[in-house]
Amino acid sequence: MRGPKDFRLSDGTVIDHLPVGTAARALEVLNLPRGGPVTVGMNVPSTTFGRKDIIRVEGVELSKSELDRLALLGQRVTVSLVRDGDVAHKVVLETPLEVEGILRCPNPTCITNQEEVVTVFHRIGDFPYRFRCHHCERTRSIHEETEEALPTRR
Ligand SMILES: [Zn+2]
Repeated sequence: MRGPKDFRLSDGTVIDHLPVGTAARALEVLNLPRGGPVTVGMNVPSTTFGRKDIIRVEGVELSKSELDRLALLGQRVTVSLVRDGDVAHKVVLETPLEVEGILRCPNPTCITNQEEVVTVFHRIGDFPYRFRCHHCERTRSIHEETEEALPTRR
């Protein structure tokens, strides 16, 4: 029986309860690999969700900006900071109702693509999320974008 023990590490970060199919997106968002080795589990059995994706990154702690991006991928994405083999800090990321400055609008004529205007998207309903542009009302999912459309601050 494979379980969470396969994903233990001494120092680093475990990103758990990613919806199946979002691990690749999370790797892009986090600009991985960086730091130490990265272990990715996809379609892993989960007691809570049936199936999930999970990522283990050694030697890396995530920034607030990176957590804000991960929060858009699922409704119960869990991030654990591990130090000396123990979970030092664990957070369940909440997807905000309003997302500022992260998502790009897919509408080329939207003012956010024409001028230096910060994007604002409103979350529509529950998971799987869609987001509506505050400026032009175009809606989008989290999966529609390219690397370019979801830049990670480096
Ligand atoms: Zn727009």
